[in-house]
Amino acid sequence: MREQVEKMILNRQKTTLATAFAIANDKSLAEGISSNSIENSSYDELISKFIENELYKNSWMQILDKDLQSIYVSSNGQNGAVSNQNREDLLEASTLKKPLISVSIGEGDFGIRAIVPIIKNSALVGLVELSSRFDAISKQMKDIGVDSIVVLSKEYKNTLKNHLSKNFIDDYYVANIDASVVLMEYLRKNGVHNYIHTPQKFENHYIISTYPLKNIQNIVIGHYIMFKKRDDVLNINLDFFMYKWIGIAIVAFMIMMAVLGSFLHYRNKKQKMYYKNIIDSSSNIVMVVDKDNIINMNKTFFKYFNDYDTLEAFKAEHQSISDFFVKEEGCIYKDMDGVNWLEYLIKNPKNSLVKILYNEKEYYFTVGVSLISEEDAHYSAIFSNITDEKIYQKELEHTNITDPLTKIRNRYCYNKQIKKECASSNRYFYPLSLVIFDMDNFKNINDNYGHDVGDKVLIEYTKLITTCLRDSDIFCRIGGEEFALILPHVNKSDAYKLADKIRSKVQEHNQIVAITMSFGVTEYKKDEDLELTFKRADKALYEAKNAGRNRVVAI
Ligand code: GH3
Ligand code: MG
Ligand code: MG
Repeated sequence: MREQVEKMILNRQKTTLATAFAIANDKSLAEGISSNSIENSSYDELISKFIENELYKNSWMQILDKDLQSIYVSSNGQNGAVSNQNREDLLEASTLKKPLISVSIGEGDFGIRAIVPIIKNSALVGLVELSSRFDAISKQMKDIGVDSIVVLSKEYKNTLKNHLSKNFIDDYYVANIDASVVLMEYLRKNGVHNYIHTPQKFENHYIISTYPLKNIQNIVIGHYIMFKKRDDVLNINLDFFMYKWIGIAIVAFMIMMAVLGSFLHYRNKKQKMYYKNIIDSSSNIVMVVDKDNIINMNKTFFKYFNDYDTLEAFKAEHQSISDFFVKEEGCIYKDMDGVNWLEYLIKNPKNSLVKILYNEKEYYFTVGVSLISEEDAHYSAIFSNITDEKIYQKELEHTNITDPLTKIRNRYCYNKQIKKECASSNRYFYPLSLVIFDMDNFKNINDNYGHDVGDKVLIEYTKLITTCLRDSDIFCRIGGEEFALILPHVNKSDAYKLADKIRSKVQEHNQIVAITMSFGVTEYKKDEDLELTFKRADKALYEAKNAGRNRVVAI
């Protein structure tokens, strides 16, 4: 709407200017002014013809001499004499000798003006001023469904001496005679100042737009206020102005989306590469897996599974990394008693040790698993290689529990194992026997053959005894040449038989130096203090020694 009004005002100014030009260029006019013999009647005729046209109905004209004295004023629409005092536009046009178009305030009205200098022999002889009221424009606006109220800013109220329109909204002079009474009342009620500073407002089913009217010095002296029923707009009776801006907004939005889209695409791609590089540079195997398949993996995977260099090549021969899991105590494997290893890991994240055997190489990994897509049941699995630590740990554990000379378990291990086995026997009600045995007169061997031979004898005979035992029997060196046998699931009488078998094998062995051994045997009694069991076995051994050695005593 504002754009339309702006255009209409400009057009109006141009046509007014063109007409003023036509009048000013009439040679007889210049002559007439110079000789002070203006034929008023001919101009009356001209102006009356001019205003016959509906569009120029609200026009009037004055002709001024070079001193800006009015020498002709068209009678139509103008009351009384015209004062040209303080008319900046007239002064500027006469001084600069140039035509002007402007919006200005005269004594009688506020309107659109064209001022054209009348020149004779390059000298200014007068001016033609043609003025047009805003009614012409408000009428045109009405045709396109816009009501207009043109107001003069209130500080110029006193400039108007003989105002043509009788309408005022408070101190604002209403310059168009056809202004709607209802809308004038509306503005009066809501205060004109609430509209003239806002280009566009939506209020009470109206779109209310204002367009500032500026004078020759570019000072806002009035406002063109437009009212358009909002329903009209909603019925897509949008004017060009609206279409244009909506069009521009849509195009701008599309451009923005396109730019944003390509920016995001680029950023996404860059980010993906960025994260891929990070994941590839990890020393851990990083994989995306589901229960049965590998979906993706990083480069590190191929450092271990080095017969392959792509996921496809690996998958052509294997389904899952779990195909290479080794079943070992403390390690998870493919199918943990019917539970898939991934599901097992999610439920038991602490128990995450995996042993992998590939190309005859053993690796230990800890595995961290987390669900990354519930919908696809995809998990991320990160395998951290702890092979070196695990080997070191195993070595350490072995050293801790192993006697360095005989390589059988040491006293520390005995203490741990006897506790564990007694607890287990209590819990599961199975028999548990203990045999304590000691080499006979070993001191003599050291004395006669030297300590080294004594050591060799210790090594040789422990090896021999080991051959008499089952995997479940726990054989420990608990003193210099004193040993213990923890026998789970063995009762006293079977323990006796085993001890006697060992005794006889030792006696028969006859290697390095012939030796014999004495044995004390006992059975653990449910919920008994461990010390008591040991003491009983020791007592049996003591009795065996006392009874002449190379024998077994069971208590
Ligand atoms: P018995 O047990 O039959 O009563 O007589 P014994 O001579 O074996 O007496 P005792 O058990 O008191 O002596 C054990 C000896 O074993 C003392 C020690 O010199 C020897 N001995 C202990 N540990 C070692 C060892 O690691 N190497 C060697 N060579 N000898 C050891
Ligand atoms: Mg001894
Ligand atoms: Mg001894």
